[in-house]
Amino acid sequence: MAAGTGLDTVVRARRAVVGGVEKPVAVGVRDGRIVAVAAYDDLAAAEVVVLADDEVLLPGLVDTHVHVNEPGRTDWEGFASATRAAAAGGVTTIVDMPLNSIPPTTTVAALEEKWAVAADQVWVDTGFWGGAVPGNVADLAPLHEAGVFGFKCFLLDSGVEEFPHLAPDELADAMAETSRIGSLMVVHAEDADEIAACAHGTAYRDFLESRPDVAEERAISLVIDTARRTGARAHVVHLSASGAVPALRAARAGGVEVSVETCPHYLHFEAATIADGATELKCCPPIRGAANRDALWQALADGDIDLVVSDHSPCTADLKLRETGDFADAWGGIASLQLGLPIVWTGARERGVPLTDVVRWMATAPARRVGLSGKGEIAVGADADLCVFAPDEEWFVDPAALHHKNAVSPYAGRTLTGTVRATWLRGRPVDLSAGPRGRLLRRGVPR
Ligand SMILES: [Zn+2]
Repeated sequence: MAAGTGLDTVVRARRAVVGGVEKPVAVGVRDGRIVAVAAYDDLAAAEVVVLADDEVLLPGLVDTHVHVNEPGRTDWEGFASATRAAAAGGVTTIVDMPLNSIPPTTTVAALEEKWAVAADQVWVDTGFWGGAVPGNVADLAPLHEAGVFGFKCFLLDSGVEEFPHLAPDELADAMAETSRIGSLMVVHAEDADEIAACAHGTAYRDFLESRPDVAEERAISLVIDTARRTGARAHVVHLSASGAVPALRAARAGGVEVSVETCPHYLHFEAATIADGATELKCCPPIRGAANRDALWQALADGDIDLVVSDHSPCTADLKLRETGDFADAWGGIASLQLGLPIVWTGARERGVPLTDVVRWMATAPARRVGLSGKGEIAVGADADLCVFAPDEEWFVDPAALHHKNAVSPYAGRTLTGTVRATWLRGRPVDLSAGPRGRLLRRGVPR
C-alpha cells in the first residue's frame, strides 16, 4: 500500500520538530499511530488538519517526574486533575513518582492499588515508578516484572514517614538488584550530613544556606561510586547545584551509566529575587543563585544535563504556610506540570537556544531514558501524541486557568512566551470537556 492511502488524518505543519530538526511536514495518522512523515503537500485523508502559520507541531511532551499523590493524599493532587494539567500543557505521557501517595509504590500490591484508582480517570498516558526503601529489595524484581519503569530512592529524609531513605549500604544492595534485573535507579541526591536545620523565619537566604551545593555534590559522588561498583544504571533527579556537573561528566566519560535531569524552576528563578516569605518557591534541593542558573543552562547546551522534567509536587495551599512565610516548616515542592514547556521555552528563547533542543530535553530524552518506546518523537511507528505550540505568543499565568488541584503557583502573574494551543493523544485532540482517554503504561507491555 502506498504511503498516504488509508489514513485517518493528515496533519500539515509549516514548522514541525522531527528527528531533531525543524521542517515542514505532513504527518499521516492511522489507528492512533504515526504511519507516514512526508513533505508538506504529500499525503491525503478524509480529515486534514492544517496548523496556523504561527504554530509549530511538536511531539507530545514526556514528563517522567510527577507526584500524583493518589490514593492517600488526594487532597494534594489526584490522577484526574494532574493529567488534565498535563494535557493542557502539551504533556501526553507522565510517569508517577512512588511517594506522597499512601501507600507508596513499594510493593506490587500498592502498584495494583494505584492502577485500580488511576484507571478510567487519566487524561494522558500514565506510567509508574516503583520505590526502593529499606527492607524491600525482594520487592524490586516483582515490581519490575509488573511494569514499573524503574525505582526511586532518597538518600535523606523524604519528607513523608512512610517512604524512608536508604543508607549507603542499602543503596548499594538496591542498586545491585536493579543492575541484576536490568532496571533504572533514580535518586534524590542530597547528603543529610551536609544539611543544617533551617532556622525558623521568612528569610529565603536561611533556607538556601541550610541546603548548600556540597550536599548535592557529595550525594551525587556516592551515586556515581555505587553505580560504578554495582554496574547499575542510575539517574539523578532534579539537579540544582551546577557544581556537580563536572563529576557527572567525568563519570560518564569513564563508562558509568548515569544520567541527570533538572527542572523548570531551577532554570527560571534565582535566589536573589526570591522574596522573604515566598514559600511557594520552597523546594529541595533549593533554587540557587543566578550564576548557578546560567551554569545549568550551559550544562544543558553541552549535553551534560540530559533532560528537563517538572518534579510536579503539589500540596494543599495551607501547607505552604503563606501566612507566616516560615521556610523551615512549609512543604517543599513546586507544581508546574501544565507550565513546563512555556517556562523552559521562555528561557531558551532569551538565550538563543532553538526549540529543537527544548523538545529533545522535554520529550525525546525522557522517553528514551525510561524506555518508553513510541513516545517523545514524531516518527513512523510512534503514537500520534502531538503538541500544537505557538512559540511567539506571550501570556500571563492566571492560577484560575491551571488544572492541577491546588492552584498554588510561583509563576502566577508572570509573563511567559509560548502557548499550547492543542494536545493530541493517539491521533485525536484531547477534549477536556469530553472523557479521559489516557492509558496506563507498563514497561515491556506493547502499546
Ligand atoms: Zn520529586
